[in-house]
Amino acid sequence: STVGVPRETNAGERRVALVPKVVERLCARGVRVVVESGAGLGALIPDASYAEAGAKIGDPWSADVVVKVTPPTAEEIGRLSSGATLIGFLAPLTSPETVTALRDAGVTAFAMESIPRISRAQSMDALSSQATVAGYRAALLAAEHSTRFFPMLTTAAGTVKPATVLVLGVGVAGLQALATAKRLGARTTGYDVRPEVADQVRSVGAQWLDLGIAAVGEGGYARELTEDERAEQQQRLEEAVTGFDAVITTALVPGRRAPTLVTAQAVEGMRPGSVVVDLAGESGGNCELTEPGEVAVRHDVTIVSPLNLPATMPEHASELYARNVLALLELMLDDAGTVAPDWTDEILATSCVTRTEGDG
Ligand code: NAD
Repeated sequence: STVGVPRETNAGERRVALVPKVVERLCARGVRVVVESGAGLGALIPDASYAEAGAKIGDPWSADVVVKVTPPTAEEIGRLSSGATLIGFLAPLTSPETVTALRDAGVTAFAMESIPRISRAQSMDALSSQATVAGYRAALLAAEHSTRFFPMLTTAAGTVKPATVLVLGVGVAGLQALATAKRLGARTTGYDVRPEVADQVRSVGAQWLDLGIAAVGEGGYARELTEDERAEQQQRLEEAVTGFDAVITTALVPGRRAPTLVTAQAVEGMRPGSVVVDLAGESGGNCELTEPGEVAVRHDVTIVSPLNLPATMPEHASELYARNVLALLELMLDDAGTVAPDWTDEILATSCVTRTEGDG
């Protein structure tokens, strides 16, 4: 097979679906790789590095397998050949029209966000790899926008106390935010509605905040809170957040609007100069005063709502993503380096969102 790697065209997108190291691995498996000129530029990876790794620089769209990061535009779908395979984030739940267009174009498509979260698929879990990047960057943003030091300092001018950081929603991103804030010297605390997270929070040197509300849903995710639970949670968090220099929120419930954890009143109760970094902006935000994509100061508290954080650290975000894609491709490759999916494989059957007739 030939794998094509287009240049990503979404505004602000700096990632690329394959990095040279992974191109090398694919070439060793007998796969040809065609990379669009400039595909790696956002991540500062020059064409020459891809060429050295064994790729051809050329038109990626005529390949029989095209790998992307973000969902294809209608124009891009038009450039795929009928019978081709596409792999990438496709947002099948929020943009079903993309899947319909791919089906109409005769394309077999695999959505990276639909890979089941089972042990065998961990190496392909791009949601987790990109959430790791987002969590790390969130802690850096909190430090960057803080009016205070994160670490404890003993200086000739006196001592500075370490910052206190609270992370609300400790999934993959939250755990990385806790670990990163800790490395910067902050005192860290984590909170979630899944009680099993407590041990993971402690394992990264953070305290566990228990508000007595458990909401475990299906597949390791949280469920949406009832109205009463929500009111209680907001009330308790209003009291809890007052003591923190920075609050990082990452709470999501699959298929729902992000829960409001930090109310306007809670922000008002925070010490002036504190920071809220809301990672849930794309799903409506966890803070009532969040303006997605903006940095706003409300009640003397800086509220930061970054969008597409993984794209702000493009080299490593791309490298982890490329390894996820490689693991998925390896599951489909036969000995001759041809993509030949075994449709009885749970991972392939679940992540495939549309499939051409000829594919069995
Ligand atoms: P996510 O992005 O869906 O949500 C982030 C966090 O927000 C979750 O921990 C969730 O419990 C929490 N949350 C939701 N509503 C909340 C509320 N009202 N208040 C406080 N917190 C709230 O989660 P994720 O990072 O995708 O991870 C979800 C789970 O999936 C975790 O248990 C993770 O370990 C698991 N997981 C498993 C695999 C695997 O087995 N392959 C891979 C990745 C993640």
